[in-house]
Amino acid sequence: MQRIAIVGAGVSGLSHAWFLKKQLPESEISIFYSGKVGGNIATETHDNCLLEPGPDSYLDRTGLFNQMVDDLGLREKLLFEEKRSAKRYILKDGYMVKAPTGPMGLFLTSLIFFPEKIRMFLAMGKKFSLWPTITFFDAARNVLGISAAEYLASPFARGVYGSEAEDLEFSSLYPELFEKISQAAKLKLALKEFSKENREYWQKELGDVKFQKGIYNFQGGLITWAQALEEKLKAAGVNFIADKISRISQDETRKPVLSSKAKPYGSFDRVIFTVGSADLAYIFREHDKELSKRVVEMKYAPINVVYSAWNPKEFSVAGYGFLVPRKERAAILGTIFASNVFKGRSPADRFLTKTMVSGASDVFKDDDLSSLAEESLCRILRSRAKPLWSKVYRHTPGIPQYAPGHREWRRDVLALAAKHEGVHFTGWNFSGVGMANQLEAAYRFSKTMTK
Ligand SMILES: Cc1cc2nc3c(=O)[nH]c(=O)nc-3n(C[C@H](O)[C@H](O)[C@H](O)COP(=O)(O)OP(=O)(O)OC[C@H]3O[C@@H](n4cnc5c(N)ncnc54)[C@H](O)[C@@H]3O)c2cc1C
Repeated sequence: MQRIAIVGAGVSGLSHAWFLKKQLPESEISIFYSGKVGGNIATETHDNCLLEPGPDSYLDRTGLFNQMVDDLGLREKLLFEEKRSAKRYILKDGYMVKAPTGPMGLFLTSLIFFPEKIRMFLAMGKKFSLWPTITFFDAARNVLGISAAEYLASPFARGVYGSEAEDLEFSSLYPELFEKISQAAKLKLALKEFSKENREYWQKELGDVKFQKGIYNFQGGLITWAQALEEKLKAAGVNFIADKISRISQDETRKPVLSSKAKPYGSFDRVIFTVGSADLAYIFREHDKELSKRVVEMKYAPINVVYSAWNPKEFSVAGYGFLVPRKERAAILGTIFASNVFKGRSPADRFLTKTMVSGASDVFKDDDLSSLAEESLCRILRSRAKPLWSKVYRHTPGIPQYAPGHREWRRDVLALAAKHEGVHFTGWNFSGVGMANQLEAAYRFSKTMTK
């Protein structure tokens, strides 16, 4: 029987426990956590509105999430994005312009200049040699042209990473796609092969799971999912231990040994770390100074979230929300029209918006942040309304930045971790920043474990 420890009970820790328990039902699994189960998931209610200060939706591309939802018995509580939120917007010259969704959308959009549409079409037949440290912005510019970099890559980077496309490394954001583009004779072939391989892998793994590609949440918010996972895992015998791990060492057989400030927990066959880089550095500070020093070089982008409730007679907009490209020089990264996206997020007399503002949290007071969000939103939507209330949430250190050099950092850190038998590093510092990345990484990792 394997003794497995998982450090951290966020999306990554919970998913690792879930897939490992399936793969190794006889194993003894303990999850150590500080704070609360769910990590960044932070659902709360205020004034009869359901707020998600952390992640607010799960993008299912593979069916893995939907399969898990069925296993958890959560199908009845599952919510799929509402039709009225289908249109996503990008700000251009101060106006919301519909974001393209497929090849036809790209051809018709006013976000991209016509000559560049031709260039994009021609690019499909070309070979591209991208270097490993190329930024997301430059990769988009070299392959698709400047307007695609400014109006597609830039808003995407700001919406997902809370930072600029110029500050992110393409090969770290899309490692498999990067390899394919570097190797394939034509861009078209790289894209085709990339999506075919992914589709076939998940079809083979999951069988014919019925699901619709798109974004999901639950009645009661994402916390419903984290709590259901906790409950099922506990029922399956997984130990949830509310204690912060502060130290790793090894026993005489070189197995990893964990302890907190309060207690020793003995040795484990496997330890899976899903924690941030400062915590990793601290835990390894005596055991491996080199690892500790290198791991802490990871950068984060602090991000602030402002939820506002409006009187819908004064302020209400159709669609999902909008993202702001860097070129627009607005103070906000983007806004989600939260009332439109999932059913039951606000009562009929409230229209709920979730606005993201980047920046170090202590520079602004809460009131400054909410005024900044409200003023930007009203300017963009040409409204004079005032919100009924606003609530500010700060995420520090924030979102891990896959900045130029991340690929090399990741390779070095994972190589250093591999020197410690039974130790595995994962979570959003290593596996991609979205929730789906955590589930997919956990699934793939569990497959590497044998009885
Ligand atoms: C504002 C915001 C919005 C987002 N929106 C979305 C979205 O809509 N969709 C999406 O897919 N993703 C979104 N994300 C990303 C998503 O939240 C992450 O992918 C996910 O939370 C990462 O999970 P994790 O388990 O890797 O990390 P975490 O959630 O950070 O979990 C790590 C856990 O480890 C614990 N821990 C740390 N040190 C120790 C220790 N020494 N001992 C024990 N426990 C420890 C921490 O307390 C924490 O709970 C968003 C993120 C933010 C910040």
